[in-house]
Amino acid sequence: MPEENIKTRDFGNIYRLIYEKKQCSRQQIAEELGISLPTITHNLALLKEQELIYTSGTFNSTGGRKANMFRCVPNARYALGIDITRNHLSIVLINLNLDIIDRERTRCAFEDTSAYYENLQKKVEQFLNNQNLDTDRLLGIGISLPAIIESDQKTVFYATVISLLGNFYERISSCFPYPYLLFNDASSAGLAESWHANFDRPMLYLSLSNSVGGAFLNNGKIFPGANSHSSEFGHMCIVPHGKKCYCGCYGCLDAYCCAKVLSDFTGGNLAEFFKELSSGNPGYRRVFDDYLDYLAIAVNNLRMCYDCDVIIGGTVGSFMSDYLKDLRQKAIKLNPFEKSGNYILCCHYRTEASAVGAAAHYVDKFIKGM
Ligand SMILES: [Zn+2]
Repeated sequence: MPEENIKTRDFGNIYRLIYEKKQCSRQQIAEELGISLPTITHNLALLKEQELIYTSGTFNSTGGRKANMFRCVPNARYALGIDITRNHLSIVLINLNLDIIDRERTRCAFEDTSAYYENLQKKVEQFLNNQNLDTDRLLGIGISLPAIIESDQKTVFYATVISLLGNFYERISSCFPYPYLLFNDASSAGLAESWHANFDRPMLYLSLSNSVGGAFLNNGKIFPGANSHSSEFGHMCIVPHGKKCYCGCYGCLDAYCCAKVLSDFTGGNLAEFFKELSSGNPGYRRVFDDYLDYLAIAVNNLRMCYDCDVIIGGTVGSFMSDYLKDLRQKAIKLNPFEKSGNYILCCHYRTEASAVGAAAHYVDKFIKGM
């Protein structure tokens, strides 16, 4: 193999190792990758020159000598995430650690019109201008939608929560002078949660927003299914011949556990519902109890199928921490094998998970492509 290729491969491998381990010494790199110290020193110098890593102080190694530790520069690159929902537009800027540098969420009803797209373009432009960002460091824009997206990340296969006509990807091309791709909202949110928690085992993300969806992840990767349509948990039937779902079928989980089931009692304001609930309003308590009964059925079914942690996310998930105990108790009553509901967890991100996950695609691509 020519010398240049060896250098390139080592360069990427060393960077990825430091990224994964958070910090590494020269010796650790040599042991993990089996490459010589001079090669490592050469590549570390190149990585430093490109402002991709820095020396993060020293620590006492076993021999008592102090070794330099190397860390990745989190702000070496950025990615932008946009989450388009029926009533809101969220924009987040993340760095290579998936830290949110800045966020903006505005109420803005989706319309498939040129006026909406002009507004979107203006908002993104303003948002980026406010960051004082070296735009050469912006990797791309991930756009999260409540829609099923084909594996090319450009074609909308199915969308009813917001109505999207064909060629959506092409029609927004004039909005952004950066690379951009489309992602399913729930899959993106699952990815963000899994990356944040450094999950290296299987996990399931259940998104409870104005629609119900989810993602099954293993080792930080989404399982897409044979047709990229996996984890459409919202359309699992939990009540035969039950309430009508927006998809046209009856008894789907979505009809019982979407956020609207709760927020309809408070004029569409979900925060207000949970405020009333926490103040002890008995009517709201009954509504929420019913809600948790259905949710427990779904969560227990998912546990039976996947045997992994279930993260409760979406807009309802962001209010669930005070009620997790109740949900766990209900789910355990349905489970003949287990005595603990500790596999049910609350999400980390409140409203930005989908936007972060969509942007994370570009971070992932950057790290892998080094
Ligand atoms: Zn349905």
